[in-house]
Amino acid sequence: MAMILDGTLVLPDRLAPGRVTFDDTIRAIEPGPVAHEATRYILPGFIDTHVHGGDGADTMEGVAAIGRLARFHMAHGTTTILPTTITRPWPDVMDALRAVAEVRHAGLSGGPAIHGAHLEGPFVSPHRLGAQPPFAIAPDPDHVAQALATGVVRVVTLAPELEHAETAIAAFAAAGVRVSIGHTVASFEQAEQAICRICAAGGTVGATHLFNAMGGIEGRRPGPATALMCSDAGHAELIFDTHHVHPASFRLAHRLMGERLLFVTDAMRGAGLGDGPSQLGGQEVMISDGIARLPDGTLAGSVLTLDAALRNALAAGTSLVDAAKLVSHNAARYLGLTDRGALVPGMRADFVVMDGDFTVREVWVAGQRHT
Ligand SMILES: [Zn+2]
Repeated sequence: MAMILDGTLVLPDRLAPGRVTFDDTIRAIEPGPVAHEATRYILPGFIDTHVHGGDGADTMEGVAAIGRLARFHMAHGTTTILPTTITRPWPDVMDALRAVAEVRHAGLSGGPAIHGAHLEGPFVSPHRLGAQPPFAIAPDPDHVAQALATGVVRVVTLAPELEHAETAIAAFAAAGVRVSIGHTVASFEQAEQAICRICAAGGTVGATHLFNAMGGIEGRRPGPATALMCSDAGHAELIFDTHHVHPASFRLAHRLMGERLLFVTDAMRGAGLGDGPSQLGGQEVMISDGIARLPDGTLAGSVLTLDAALRNALAAGTSLVDAAKLVSHNAARYLGLTDRGALVPGMRADFVVMDGDFTVREVWVAGQRHT
């Protein structure tokens, strides 16, 4: 049975009042006058490729927690999600990957699409852990094979300077896993070399939370962020809660990367719970004024949701068409998901309905209203 939503449609190239007709798939887009175009926006469903938790739940806790955090983020517009692991002893990481695979296989009724997992850690630099606990290991062939055998890893964060990184890049790329450079002490030159290796192996290059947990940009030491921004092949995640990244740094990256830049939340379990004590990867965290920190002051993930990231982009001067792409289309393109990320006939009927203040009012996943 065909359904209809109307309002201001956020299309790939413009805003247009009109209506979208759909079942589980978008059947028609019809621009034209509608009654409440100023107070009702229809956006493509959001896609989060890097999210640890929310509403008190963490990916590392297994099946029930993954369902809980996924539904929490869906209420903020996320219709496709990659639950994300953290650096812990290897058996814990494997348990988490198997749990994501189980939820993905069963489907999450009343929840967003679980595309797979982002394996963030343990293949990271022990010298650039950020808020990752100290269980980093090198991506040796045995561990890489175990991770790939779960069939659920879609993105892997990798520090390219680690021992075995070259063979790991080839193995992940051959399996279609996006290789996301991050938590790294790589130089500009090492990052460029890694980008070349990923491309030569037929892979897709990513960057894990660009600017965070990697070297900064200096005139004589451009660092991995410059290599990633200047490469035509590189995509990059950005945590735009305005604490992890300054609005000017966002504008720089957006100007250089355009549709190769994608917003992620990197949210931890405290997202949605307000200020107070929390945990990340077994470490104590304090959330104060919406900022999560370890006791030493290190930023410990975020309490961001993608609807808030979209509002932050609008406040930084981004157009609504581009802001919508930062939370949807650009991630779809990075992941190779050609069936979602835009209001175009033939795509999945994943929608976020927002009011005039860009607060989420409705969320639709494959034509089913869940929020
Ligand atoms: Zn993370």
